[in-house]
Amino acid sequence: MSDMKPYEFTIAQAADMLRRHELTSQTLTRSVLDRIHAVEDKVGAFITILDESAMEQAVSADVLISEGRGGVLTGIPIGIKDLICTEGIRTTCASRMLEHFIPPYDATVIRKLKAAGAVMVGKLNMDEFAMGASTENSAFKPTHNPWDLSRIPGGSSGGSAAAVAADMCLGSLGSDTGGSIRQPSSHCGVVGMKPTYGRISRFGLVAFASSLDQIGPITKDTRDCALLMNALAGYDSMDSTSVPEPVPDYTSFLSGDLKGMVAGIPKEYHASQGLDPEVAAAVRQAVQTLEHLGVRCVEVSLPHTAYAVAVYYVIAPCEASSNLARYDGVKYGFRDVSAESLMDMYRNTRSKGFGPEVQRRILLGTYSLSSGYYDAYYGKASRVRTLIMEDFKAAFKTCDVLLSPVAPTPAYPIGQHIDDPLTMYLSDIFTLSANLAGIPGMSVPCGFTEQGLPIGLQLMGPHFSEGNLLKVAWHFEQSTDFHKRKATL
Ligand code: GLN
Repeated sequence: MSDMKPYEFTIAQAADMLRRHELTSQTLTRSVLDRIHAVEDKVGAFITILDESAMEQAVSADVLISEGRGGVLTGIPIGIKDLICTEGIRTTCASRMLEHFIPPYDATVIRKLKAAGAVMVGKLNMDEFAMGASTENSAFKPTHNPWDLSRIPGGSSGGSAAAVAADMCLGSLGSDTGGSIRQPSSHCGVVGMKPTYGRISRFGLVAFASSLDQIGPITKDTRDCALLMNALAGYDSMDSTSVPEPVPDYTSFLSGDLKGMVAGIPKEYHASQGLDPEVAAAVRQAVQTLEHLGVRCVEVSLPHTAYAVAVYYVIAPCEASSNLARYDGVKYGFRDVSAESLMDMYRNTRSKGFGPEVQRRILLGTYSLSSGYYDAYYGKASRVRTLIMEDFKAAFKTCDVLLSPVAPTPAYPIGQHIDDPLTMYLSDIFTLSANLAGIPGMSVPCGFTEQGLPIGLQLMGPHFSEGNLLKVAWHFEQSTDFHKRKATL
């Protein structure tokens, strides 16, 4: 490790060195902040960089460590998607609407990271209100993929994935409503997990679609993912959707072997039209690697897969239109002061404060929920959602984990699909169903295209099977080196 720069370390490596007093959090944090300042102009991952408070937290962490009171995250520099509330620190959701919003409280996940002694280096770019799959919908700037700066990093947690891939933090938090952790992780060659609905508290997460939203970690490898899951998972009385299920030590799954494990290969995913041949080949190869490791693979069917996009793009906009009604220029956020009447104030505030994609979602959602249409759209979508859940339930009778692509194509050039929302929506086909069913899913690097763009393998499992997913991903990493490759910047 001696030839590595501190910012290049994984969380586990840095934690070891901190504990052995071969590194201080101040040196590590300085190194990460310098790295951020060296490459941020190219990558554009950050909305807010917290130079001063990060160094202060590093000083406190070093005290804890020197007193032997540190945990594995103490002194570790972490980045946070800018829709997770941070007390006293601007939380914009990459929207003009919340450009100057400073939350008066911390989200539960932030409280947990602080209690663990983690260092917060900044708030990360995203699609506005998490609506998008490319981070091009940020009101402030696009984020660039560290592997090819002309391409999207994926989204909506594009800043979170790009920052980890570019060594601008050791790990980050993202949110996933329909793929927003897994898809950017896949495009940036890092590990990302969307936990089971209810596994991690969403108190302090700015709501997009409340029946789908989950917070989760993005990291350089699977061990780090397990370490962050240990810190984040657990019941929280402040989130009524949080589940009082005991939290295992997720690192305890990173051992043993995969003998006896059965993986389902959903035929609808692998035969999907529009699946890029290089992505298909990499995923096929990954399935073979796992077979060599003792996993038995069986074909399974998820017959309602084709409806996932339609169902999601009714349910998510409906919930968004309701959640975003609070941004009216009165209670908080942007207000248009030029208006002469109350109605004009509402209209102007929401026209100027929200970007085009957010407005499109609000219109779609409001229409679908309006009198006379509710049953035809929201009601129907909810019923098909149940069928999608049943598909998974049936599949998990014959297998422990599902293997599939994360995204149909590798990262595409910035601007390529920005005027074509339907194509963007369709590219979410492999990730939406896990949110609709509430099951955990993760992305682990499984290859590169000829042009050097990362490809991710998606693992999905029954509710609360995160440990099993981590186990499969970790064994996969033990016999491959895709997760070790670095983008050159
Ligand atoms: N791409 C999907 C959307 O635009 C998913 C976003 C998300 O998971 N936050 O809604």
